[in-house]
Amino acid sequence: MNKTYNAFDTAREQFDKIAELLDLEQASKDLLREPLREFHFSIPVRMDDNKVKIFKGFRVQHNDALGPAKGGIRFHPQETIDTVRALAMWMTWKCSVVDIPLGGAKGGIICDPHNLSQREQEQLCRGWVRQMARNVGPLIDIPAPDVMTTGQHMLWMLDEYEVIYGGKYPGAITGKPVGIGGSLGRIEATGYGLIFTVREALREMEIRVEDTKASVQGFGNVAQHAIELYNKLGGKVILVSCWDQDSGKSRAYRKTDGIILKELQKITDNFGGINKEKAIELGYEVLPGEAWIEQDVEILIPAALENSITAENASSISDNVKLIAEGANGPTTIEADRIIKEKGIFLIPDFLANAGGVTCSYFEQVQSNTNYFWSKEEVLSKLDAKMTDAFISVSDLAKKQKIYTRDAAYILAVDRVARACSSRGWT
Ligand code: NAD
Repeated sequence: MNKTYNAFDTAREQFDKIAELLDLEQASKDLLREPLREFHFSIPVRMDDNKVKIFKGFRVQHNDALGPAKGGIRFHPQETIDTVRALAMWMTWKCSVVDIPLGGAKGGIICDPHNLSQREQEQLCRGWVRQMARNVGPLIDIPAPDVMTTGQHMLWMLDEYEVIYGGKYPGAITGKPVGIGGSLGRIEATGYGLIFTVREALREMEIRVEDTKASVQGFGNVAQHAIELYNKLGGKVILVSCWDQDSGKSRAYRKTDGIILKELQKITDNFGGINKEKAIELGYEVLPGEAWIEQDVEILIPAALENSITAENASSISDNVKLIAEGANGPTTIEADRIIKEKGIFLIPDFLANAGGVTCSYFEQVQSNTNYFWSKEEVLSKLDAKMTDAFISVSDLAKKQKIYTRDAAYILAVDRVARACSSRGWT
C-alpha cells in the first residue's frame, strides 16, 4: 500500500466531489467533511507483571443526524486517528444508503491483542468503556466488533457499561454472541447481503444467475457466505484466493467446473487460509493470488482487502466481466475505478454491497432494545428486503441521472444525511 495514503484525505475527497454535485450549502459541507465529535483518551491497564501500561483509545462520531451513531472498535498496533475518522465517515454513508436510522462512528485502541493475555484484554475493554460511558449507549452511539475485536470483547464492554449504569442495556453494544444478546444471521449477513445485491443487479441486466460464473478474492467470512448463497441461487464460483501465512504470499485455487464450498471449508483455518497441499489433493489448480482478477467470468467479487483493484491490474479484467460486487471495504483505487467505469462494467460499490453487516447489527440492536429475538429466517428475510430496496434506490438514481452507481450511492447517502442536518436546524 502507498505509504503516503491517508484514508481521511480520500474520504474527504470523495465527499467534496459529491457535495459539489449536490450543490450543498457551505455550512453542510463544513459540517459533513469533519467529524461531529472526537474523543482521545488514555486507558491505564495493570498488566500481568503488575506494572501499569497506558494505552491510547479513540472514538470518532462522524455524524448522528439520522440516529445514534454506529460503528466498530478496532484493536490495531498501527491504528491512526485519520483512519478512524475516515472509517467513521464511511459508516455514516453506509447506514444512510441502506436507510437505517443510525449515524456513523468508529473507534479503536492502539494495541496488538496477540501480545495481551485474556485478563489484560478484558481490562482494556473495560477501561475503554470507563472512558467513554457518558458518550456511548443505546441512544447515543453503539459500538460493535471490528478488526481484531470479537464478541467476547463486546460482552466485557457491555458488562462494564451495565456495572456503571446499574441496569441491563443489551442495546448498548452489538456483535454479542448468540444467546447473550446476539442476533441470528449476523455471521451470514455481509456475504448474503452482497449476493442479494448481485441477484438484483443481474435481474436488472437480464442475466440469469445460473448462466454466470464468479471469481472471488478472499475466502473469509464475507467470501464464504457470499459463495454459499450464490451457489444456492445457481451460480458457479471457479476461483477463490487467500493469504498464505507460511509463504507470505497470496494464492488462488481454481476448479473451472466450480469449486466445492464445503470441501474447501474443511481445509480452511479460522482466518480464511486454505491448506495448499490438501487443496492439490482435492484437484484444485494452484495459481498466484493475483490471478483472481484475470478470470474469464461474468462476476468479480473482491472480498479480501483494500486497494486490490488498481490501475495496473484493472486492464487485465476479462471483457466477459459484467459485474463487480465490492465485498471488501475500499477494494478499488480511484484510478482503477475510472477504468471500470470506462469498460461499462456494472459496479456495486462497497458501502452498499457490504452493508448487510451493519444492517444486521441494527437488527440486533432492535431485538436487544425490545428484548425479543427473531428467528434466523426472519432476520435474513428482513435483510433481503433492506438490501434489495437500497440496491433499487441506487440503481434507479443511476439510471435516471445517467451516472455511475458509486456516484449514485454517494449522492443518495450524502443527500439523506445533509437533509437530516438541515431539518434539525443544524445547517
Ligand atoms: P476475514 O478475515 O474473515 O477474511 C479475509 C480473507 O482475505 C481471508 O481468506 C484472507 O486469507 C484473505 N486475504 C488476506 N489478504 C489477502 C491477499 N493479499 N490476497 C488474497 N486474499 C487475501 O475477513 P472478512 O470478514 O471476510 O472481511 C473481508 C473484507 O470485507 C474486509 O475488507 C472487511 O473490512 C470487509 N467487510 C467485512 C464485514 C463483515 O461483516 N465481516 C462487513 C463489511 C465489510
